[in-house]
Amino acid sequence: MNASATLTALRPDPAAGAATRLLAWDMIRTLIAFDTTSRESNLALIEWVQRYLESHGAECTLTFDDDKRKANLFATLRARDGNATEGGVVLSGHTDVVPVDGQPWDTNPFEATLIGDKVYGRGVTDMKSFSATGLAFVPEFVRRGLARPLHFALSYDEEIGCIGVHRLIDDIVKRGIRPLGCIVGEPTGMELVVAHKGKKGWRCRVRGHEAHSSLTPLGVNAVQIACEIVTYLTNVARAFRDHGTHDNAYDVPYTTVHTGIIRGGTALNIVPRDCQFDFEIRHLPFDDPDELIAEVKGYAQRFLPEMRKVAPDAYIEFDDLSTLPGFDTHGESDIAKLGEACNGTRDHRKVSFGTEASLFHNATIPAIICGPGHIAQAHQPNEWVAVDQLVRCEAFMRSLADRVCVA
Ligand SMILES: [Zn+2]
Repeated sequence: MNASATLTALRPDPAAGAATRLLAWDMIRTLIAFDTTSRESNLALIEWVQRYLESHGAECTLTFDDDKRKANLFATLRARDGNATEGGVVLSGHTDVVPVDGQPWDTNPFEATLIGDKVYGRGVTDMKSFSATGLAFVPEFVRRGLARPLHFALSYDEEIGCIGVHRLIDDIVKRGIRPLGCIVGEPTGMELVVAHKGKKGWRCRVRGHEAHSSLTPLGVNAVQIACEIVTYLTNVARAFRDHGTHDNAYDVPYTTVHTGIIRGGTALNIVPRDCQFDFEIRHLPFDDPDELIAEVKGYAQRFLPEMRKVAPDAYIEFDDLSTLPGFDTHGESDIAKLGEACNGTRDHRKVSFGTEASLFHNATIPAIICGPGHIAQAHQPNEWVAVDQLVRCEAFMRSLADRVCVA
């Protein structure tokens, strides 16, 4: 069946609640029902999926975090000729979701709920629906027989800095598994994404000196110094926007810099001793984040002599918080061509948000990103995905089966 025929056959009738006609509907409901907020264990979900995959003949390997509270699952469906290692396609998704704490939800976030032409639930967009759709197609992949291996890579702790997937990737590299490429199902509106920006996060800690606020010259105001550095960052961000190199293939076509958290002071009548803030850069491949941090550190240095005249133990320090490289998969690579064929279009995009795709890419597993839903709905209260996006994801998966199956 071609993609457009599939779309017509499955196009939902909202009045009749036809999302239930989706092949993956039950699987989506099952995965959403596991509370896999990053701080929780994901083992219940992983073990459920492992049992499901093994019942269809997949070979599964788990790699754990240090406390054995969380695991990655890497599963392989062998090709009909027994090949389990060479030239396979990896379907990749993270199992964790961001917290719902303090968010005004109108439905139970851990119950996939169909209202009109949208499905609501934590993770329906970011990003359990893609994984669920791939899993729901396993019986079809098996029935038709695979010409090349098909792998599932389900990770933990993506939402807190792409932490878990490192162990999964190390493991498959060590075991000599050399896939053709990896499809990461983060929400792209089912458009093909071949590149994303890199990201680097830092914490700046300013230590000043406390004093009664009527005697400010006897203190060193950490909040005010921190704010001067934050303002410097704001100006750097403006310079990237106004004078930096742009790549219009990206949704935000220039490098961005942003301060996300600032904490300092204890009372209005005390000159604050401590202030810290977290900031990040999301950079195009040709902008170097290390250059930025060197510049910011240089700027911060200028405050130290005056601070130390009052308080010799004053300091300004920077801690690395996280690093996620960018990636750019060649549009002519096999995996990009496969993605195009499955999507029925040659259009590519580049995006500003980071994903595990760059980590696969750095391990010489070429990656693309393509998944249902839009990043704008991710991490929000009442996170939703349009049923039409799920229909497109199923069409993609069926088209993938046409290309990786024997029959
Ligand atoms: Zn995600």
